[in-house]
Formats: sequence, C-alpha cells, structure tokens
Amino acid sequence: METDYESRFVNAEYSASEDNEIELSLRPKTLGDYIGQDKVKDNLSVYIDAARQRNEPLDHVLLYGPPGLGKTTLAGIIANEMGVNFRVTSGPAIEKPGDLAALLTNLSEGDVLFIDEIHRLSRAVEEVLYPAMEDNELDIIIGKGPSARSIRLDLNRFTLVGATTRAGQLSAPLRDRFGVIFRLELYTPEQLSEIVNRSAGILNIDIDPKGALEIASRSRGTPRIANRFLKRARDFAQIMGNGSITEEIANVALAKMEVDNLGLDNIDRLILTTMIKNYNGGPVGLDTIAAAIGEEAVTIEDVYEPFLIQTGFLSRTQRGRCVTPAGYAHLGIPMPGQQKFEV
Ligand code: ADP
Repeated sequence: METDYESRFVNAEYSASEDNEIELSLRPKTLGDYIGQDKVKDNLSVYIDAARQRNEPLDHVLLYGPPGLGKTTLAGIIANEMGVNFRVTSGPAIEKPGDLAALLTNLSEGDVLFIDEIHRLSRAVEEVLYPAMEDNELDIIIGKGPSARSIRLDLNRFTLVGATTRAGQLSAPLRDRFGVIFRLELYTPEQLSEIVNRSAGILNIDIDPKGALEIASRSRGTPRIANRFLKRARDFAQIMGNGSITEEIANVALAKMEVDNLGLDNIDRLILTTMIKNYNGGPVGLDTIAAAIGEEAVTIEDVYEPFLIQTGFLSRTQRGRCVTPAGYAHLGIPMPGQQKFEV
C-alpha cells in the first residue's frame, strides 16, 4: 500500500507549499524568543558570549534531532546573536567540491554557514570541508592530468552549523570536527502551547488557552506541526465558528485532519496495526515494516518512530520493533493471550 507522505498533516518536513513569509515571521530571532530546549540554550549562550568576548567566531556546531524541532531556527539565532551573516544550504544541494569552494570563499569573517541534512554530503565534498573547518584553508586542484596542481587558499574564519536528523550517519571524521554537539528533544505540550500562543500573537489569531493546549498536545512534540495545526484550526474557526480557536474548534479541526487525541495520524496507526496484524506485534525489523506499509525505512525511523517511542506505543529491542501493551490499548486491540480488554 502506498502512503502519501507529502500530504500528511503531521509531516514535519518543510514543505515548499508553505507560505514562506509566514514561516519566516514565526521563527524566533533571539535565544530569548526560542522556547524550550533549556539545556541547549543555557550552554549556547555561554559559548556565544565567550566567543564574542574573545572576538572569535563560535566553534562549529552540530545540531541533531527529528525534523521540525528548530534546528534551522537555532542556526539563524546563532548568526543573529553573533552579529554575522547567515548562509543557508543543504547536503544534497552541494553536489561537487567546487560548489562548496564557491560557498566558502564567499563567506565574510565570522559568518555562519548552515548546512542542513549534512549527513548527505558526498565524500569528495567532505574532504574539502575538513581543512576548511580545521585551518580555514581550502585546497583546490587546478587543471587536469599530469599538469594538475593543488593550491591552498586562505578562507575567512567562519562557523559551520550542521543539522542532521541522524547523527549516527555522519562520518566519524566529520563529527569529530564539531566543537559543539547538541541534540534537540521533542517539546512538552506546555512548551508547544507557549509556541502556539506566540505564533497566534504574531499571526493575529484569536485562541483561548484550552484551544492552544489541545493543538499543542496533539502536535507530536514538534513546533513545525503545532504551527501548521494552528493555521488549519484558524480556517475551521473562521468557517465553522466565530473566528476564534476554542477547545471545541481545535478538536473539530484535528478530527478532520484525522489526528487522534494523542496526535497520532493515520500513518502512525497504520504502522502499529500492521505490526500487530501481520507480525503479532513484533519483534519485527524496520525494513519489513517499511516494505509492508510502502514507506521508506529512514522516514519511519526519523519521523514516525521517535514520537511512537515517546508515547510509549513502540519499543526498540535488539531483535526489532515491538508494539507495547500501551500501543495495543490505544488502538483498542486486545493483546494476544488476553481475554478481556479495557481501555
Ligand atoms: P528544523 O530545522 O529542525 O527542521 P525549523 O528550525 O525549521 O526546524 O523549525 C520549524 C518551525 O518551528 C520554525 O519555523 C519555527 O517557527 C518553529 N520553532 C521551532 N523551534 C521553535 C522554538 N524553540 N520556539 C518557537 N518556535 C519554534
């Protein structure tokens, strides 16, 4: 069965159809505006202050965690707080070493270069990155064949901020060249509720606290999803209510989007029911689940699994993934061997 990943309402990946200007206006610009991730913020503010006092660029930073948690936003904040330019690119966009060389030579002193999906850089491009990260130098080969020669260019000092959904896929030499490594965590409903209220304020949306909490607690710990639900709930409020988002309106909107009371959508439920119906609830391998539901294994691992694990519906064991008793209970399916079942 094919699943339509791109059109999922809870899809945390950035989608090009999203209104860019609105997205931009919602992005916090300073550490003070950035809600949650307290440990990361505390340490980062020390590193930023110290680097500024020494008049040096910040050390290279690696941010990892599921999509939509605020990695790009944080990278922009670093540039803003350091008072430097912010250049954005991504692993797949840098196809050849020459592409990276062009980016690096265009950086001004202290600039932040943000590379999203940094685990997707090719080996050849990574090789160019190493001396740039370590010694601010660029080795380029001029010419071809026997007459080819290598020249070394000095670069301005810069901060590389890399983002990845999977730190484990980064090559060890690349990972070792980051002085600061932060893992972003899923947000609590209270933090997301703050984010929803902040966004509603910026977008001039009327929402009551219960409406905000309802959206927040069903956004799978992810600010990007919370903001998307807020915008859709506004549509329902406008057409079906008096324009303001109440708990009731939020409930209607989320039900229409097939998001259940804990934030699971139909694909989350499909993963769990497939595991239960076809594989007795597991243990079952990731690739097998992926093939059974027509989804890529990496997508399941990056996008669906973290939330299903956080809710306690799925567990990862050495032998594969298993649906937990709580997972059975949430779906209302009796566990094998259980006669009676209560929700
Ligand atoms: P990522 O790069 O991890 O995929 P983004 O940085 O693009 O995620 O964040 C997605 C959206 O979520 C941003 O546009 C921003 O509005 C919102 N957001 C993310 N983190 C926060 C936060 N800590 N506080 C407020 N809004 C946030």
